[in-house]
Amino acid sequence: MRILIAEDDPVLADGLTRSLRGSEYAVDCVNDGAAADHALSTQTYDLAIIDLGLPRIEGFEVIKRLRRRSATPPVLILTARDALQERVRGLDLGADDYLTKPFQLLELEARVRALIRRGSAGGNALITNGRLKLDSTGRCATVDDQALDLSARELGVLEVLMTRSGRVVSKDQLAEKLYGWGDEVGANAIEVCVHRLRKKIEPFGVVIRTVRGLGYLMDKSAA
Ligand code: CA
Repeated sequence: MRILIAEDDPVLADGLTRSLRGSEYAVDCVNDGAAADHALSTQTYDLAIIDLGLPRIEGFEVIKRLRRRSATPPVLILTARDALQERVRGLDLGADDYLTKPFQLLELEARVRALIRRGSAGGNALITNGRLKLDSTGRCATVDDQALDLSARELGVLEVLMTRSGRVVSKDQLAEKLYGWGDEVGANAIEVCVHRLRKKIEPFGVVIRTVRGLGYLMDKSAA
């Protein structure tokens, strides 16, 4: 799950980024509207958190441009405390939810979970492959209802492979899904992660195949 944060207050931006990374999301953070617009038109996000008062291009305009494109992520806007009209205008433009500053990080995290759940509701938050079940909202995987002990990245890899089961997923696609811009992606980080994941799920009959030169593939379950 990858989130874009557009916020020009450095302290708040830093707090949001840390908090969401702590909740195992990949986070990109920008501090002006032009950078937000660029990021949203070139990358794929599961959620955008946009401050309305942004330099260069204001938040409203970023949302307006975003909504003109197809297949856009849910948007959570951040506004000043008594800016009712701003809030209404933001929602009218197609934002999905808002938070007024100052807010508690716990509340932000709850809204983020709800929006991501809603965003993937068209798809399915619960994916099954044989005995393996993945709840991408609750961020856990189970086999026969027993939780698997997976790291955040293993869970991320599993999610991408299960979502696209039957199709080849390249290492680049995995890296893009799992890491924000600031993150260092070691040459074999993905391989190591897939290796660990295999050891945990293959005993239950779920196989990740290596497609040489292309990437990885998880077979669709027979069931
Ligand atoms: Ca601002």
